[in-house]
Amino acid sequence: MIPDDVIEQVREAADLVAIVGEHVELKRTGSDYRGPCPFHGGTHRNFAVIPKKGMFYCFVCHEAGDVFTFFMKKLGMDYPTAVRETARRVGITIPERGATGPDPREPLYQAVATAADWFARQLREAPEANVARHYLVSRQVSMETAEVQGLGYAPRGPTFLDAMKGLGLREAVLLEAGLMVKREDGTVLPRFRARLQFPIHDLRSRVVAFSGRLLDNGEPKYLNSPDTPIFHKGKLLYNLHLAKHAMRKAERAILVEGQFDVLRLTLTGFEEVVAPLGTGLTADQAELLQRHAPHVILLYDSDDAGLRATFRAGDELLRHRLRVSVATLPEGEDPDTLARQGGGAAALEGILKQAIDVLERKIQILERKGFFGTLPGRRRALDRLLPTIRAAADPITRDLYISRVAEVAGVRRDVLEREVDPKQQPTAHYRPSPPATALPSSAEKVLLVLMLAGEPWKSKVVEAIDPEEFQFPAYRAVFEALADDAPDRLDETAARAYETLQAEVQAAAAATDRTPDAMFEQAVNWIEARRLDRAIERINREIPLATEDEKARLANEKKRLAAERNAKRPTYGIIETARRKGAPGT
Ligand SMILES: [Zn+2]
Repeated sequence: MIPDDVIEQVREAADLVAIVGEHVELKRTGSDYRGPCPFHGGTHRNFAVIPKKGMFYCFVCHEAGDVFTFFMKKLGMDYPTAVRETARRVGITIPERGATGPDPREPLYQAVATAADWFARQLREAPEANVARHYLVSRQVSMETAEVQGLGYAPRGPTFLDAMKGLGLREAVLLEAGLMVKREDGTVLPRFRARLQFPIHDLRSRVVAFSGRLLDNGEPKYLNSPDTPIFHKGKLLYNLHLAKHAMRKAERAILVEGQFDVLRLTLTGFEEVVAPLGTGLTADQAELLQRHAPHVILLYDSDDAGLRATFRAGDELLRHRLRVSVATLPEGEDPDTLARQGGGAAALEGILKQAIDVLERKIQILERKGFFGTLPGRRRALDRLLPTIRAAADPITRDLYISRVAEVAGVRRDVLEREVDPKQQPTAHYRPSPPATALPSSAEKVLLVLMLAGEPWKSKVVEAIDPEEFQFPAYRAVFEALADDAPDRLDETAARAYETLQAEVQAAAAATDRTPDAMFEQAVNWIEARRLDRAIERINREIPLATEDEKARLANEKKRLAAERNAKRPTYGIIETARRKGAPGT
């Protein structure tokens, strides 16, 4: 098989206009070229070559593809031959690597490509797709744009299977490609039903999967293909196949949340735009970005869920030594609504220009919420800033972050440095998570049960608690999924915890002896007591290193924190005493 990066090089070097021009008389129209279609033999200029995207498209017969596809479709070559032919023309030598047997995944690529064509035709022609066409019109996406983007429509009923079988595809292949699902009773049905289909391409610009958007109310709003031998959603970014060139040129990537945002920004004239595929940004995706641009601008919704996703992605990108900025949209706007308003491109560019460093954005939010006004507030602010400092893998960025946070939180730089990297802690007594401060999992559970009971409890809990406060990873995952309204993101363990909790909601509702208010207050008190425990533990570590003056101050601070903690958790002293008596060695 030919290595991916060589294929990429060949594609980039190829002059698509010249190659197509050998078969078609092309005339320049704006940034594209038009001519009569060589596939359906038309006489009008309905066939477009779009050099910026490295693709061709016919508005009549809908043949579409890149330089390799052109050779395959026009001259009947197979994929490797098309690559070699293109390479020969641009003067790139392709290394021979032993026997080049056919890729065993070829049938899957074929199945997905066939499905993409079929979905696209449904969107153009099927009466049932009216709802999808209206939806696109309502979002100001013309049918011409939809066609060039390869959008499609997956109908409600079972026609997909018959159509695919009619085109010679076997059920087993359709299942493996993630296009069909098998139910418990053995019947198979199309995975995507009544959805607007966004094709997902790999770096070779081949369609490998779909993201289907539901057009009426229901769940989930977006459904992605499952992972298959040709699609790993954590290792691919939506639109990267087109955006990567622009990313290199612009020396930046714009990261948005969803397919529609990508589409909108692309139409507005931004090409360096990508999106994760229905999950939080993964390490692999951060690495992909890092390969193509030194700087990422995060352009997510500005609501609470959007901010959490922003900062999670930000930390991941910092771990990959990228420069990370956050662009902030006006309240209530998303990239789509903003771009559609008058002056879309200019308005967006303005917002991108005002993007600020991810740590600075965190500080800004904490400042606005008044975190730096009080001592406990400053402590909590530090706890929220530390993960971002720790994530910064670039030593200079990390150093700048430490200085900035020391300044804004009013702590000594050396103290902060020790906190950022506890391994540097010169004391032997350091324990990462002292057992005495472990929160009873019951409190975590109570908070989740409250969240499951709906509003106003969900908002109250999200307001009061940071995800990091959850020490049981499955509960933390449930918390984040509930906070972001994305229960489909749960992994298996978390999903089981989620189900158990749901059952407990009924039980909690039936138990009349405790009001939700009381449950909430107690659980929040537990969490705050634990936070204070950690603060005390930190002071315990600092005392041996402090000067005499500082020791006195720290002792006072510790006393104050202990009093505050005991107020939150009155039984603490008793439990602690009992624990010491029972186990003198701990
Ligand atoms: Zn045509």
